[in-house]
Amino acid sequence: MADLRCPNCSKEYVARVARVGFIEGLLGLFYVYPFKCQLCGCRFSAVQWGVRYLRVEEDRREYERLPTGFPLAFSAEALRGDGMACDVSMSGCTFRAETCQPKVGDVLGVRLQIAKDVEPVAVEAVVRNVRQDHVGVEFLRFQQAGKDRLQQFVRFLLARRAAQAQRAENHVAGADIQHDHWGERADGKSPVSVKS
Ligand SMILES: [Zn+2]
Repeated sequence: MADLRCPNCSKEYVARVARVGFIEGLLGLFYVYPFKCQLCGCRFSAVQWGVRYLRVEEDRREYERLPTGFPLAFSAEALRGDGMACDVSMSGCTFRAETCQPKVGDVLGVRLQIAKDVEPVAVEAVVRNVRQDHVGVEFLRFQQAGKDRLQQFVRFLLARRAAQAQRAENHVAGADIQHDHWGERADGKSPVSVKS
């Protein structure tokens, strides 16, 4: 999809979106698929000859913003700064800008240092909102294996949240003592059942 560009703003940050209605479903048989520009929101159809998209089942919870805290670095043409992430999902994050501040609409290269001693996750992102020193960005495009690593991290945060919720429930029931270690599992394999 690297050669596909938005007909409105001619940027390459386009994502395939779900087909809506009978006509789009029919067009899919002829390799015509709907896309949406992640920058300007323009929705358009494009022919992808010979490409059959599989319906990918996604876990919607991976798109909820989850509280976190890790350092990151961002850069644009004339901008370079550091920040601290406050929340993250597979679709974006909010961070506190520490040195300089980007503005709404800036496309940034962001390096998410989700764990110590590992290569940061590199992602291109667009600034969606700025409130005081808090910057909200939407992820546009990951580099290399970054998406997989961020997904592992988000799944770990989900498992930890589920474990914490379970622990709070047990606390109410007065049964927290024997289960106190549950929230401390760092491998993402929560022994408690995950409620959906
Ligand atoms: Zn566009």
